[in-house]
Amino acid sequence: MRWRGRRQSKNIEDQRGSSSRGGFSFPRRGGGFRFPRGRGLRVGGRRGGLGGVGLIAVVVIMWFLGVDPAVILQSLTGNSGGQFTSPQTNRQPAKLGDDLGKFVAVVLADTEDAWRLQFKQLGKTYKEPRLVLFSNVVRSACGAAQSATGPFYCPGDQKIYIDLSFFQEMKFRLGAPGDFAQAYVVAHEVGHHIQTLLGISKQVRRAKSNASRVQANAIQVRMELQADCMAGIWANNTERAKQILEVGDIDEALNAASAIGDDRLQQRGGGRVTPDSFTHGTSAQRSGWFKRGFKSGQLNSCDTFKAAKL
Ligand SMILES: [Zn+2]
Repeated sequence: MRWRGRRQSKNIEDQRGSSSRGGFSFPRRGGGFRFPRGRGLRVGGRRGGLGGVGLIAVVVIMWFLGVDPAVILQSLTGNSGGQFTSPQTNRQPAKLGDDLGKFVAVVLADTEDAWRLQFKQLGKTYKEPRLVLFSNVVRSACGAAQSATGPFYCPGDQKIYIDLSFFQEMKFRLGAPGDFAQAYVVAHEVGHHIQTLLGISKQVRRAKSNASRVQANAIQVRMELQADCMAGIWANNTERAKQILEVGDIDEALNAASAIGDDRLQQRGGGRVTPDSFTHGTSAQRSGWFKRGFKSGQLNSCDTFKAAKL
């Protein structure tokens, strides 16, 4: 992907290195970070209250099962954001000294340009999300998260959270190398922001609260596949405007979408593949919807909720 010399987003908050200086702790019981009793979240066949360490383990395990951390944190805390206060935000644009940080800032700027135009076509104004780079642990309006949580979007503060070590994880553990694969991950999280701005996330939360576990998973799959499709729209619009693609880029994104499909992750986890527990969609579905968004470049091609076949 061609990215050097292009505009970097000003919406980056660089909190790398700040988390290891102490001062971070999981809130105690009663402090808002609670495991709801009897809500039916089962891990390893057990059910019940968990302390901070158990909670981290749950989040890590769930991520490997393909659940978006923001969703887990919300279901664990029983809150849709707002209970936590984010660390003081530095409104000054981050001065990024490293290539990977700069790269992410360019990709974020590309998503801003693409979605500003898409929203204009809808007669709406695009509100840019902020992106927090962190290492080890971070606090968001959706709760605390660790690096192992993987990248996530928090609707409560409309920020994307990424520990860049995840890209190493993708390359070496998940078999998804390449800069365009990394850009796809950022664009997928921006997709969740678009869903929040368009009111889709709210409708999904409401629908899930009245649904069985299996139904709720099925709804979540459509939500995730839509974010993949939206990542495809970003790729289409950015290529048309800026000619960023190099040979093999789209394959990198498709490969990444496949590598983090629920079926693949479950197999890697050594388990049987049980579609009812999927929350992100299969590898074929994920790469399929990215491709669809990339081909059309239009939001109306991404209605995963109406699609008869995913
Ligand atoms: Zn997602």
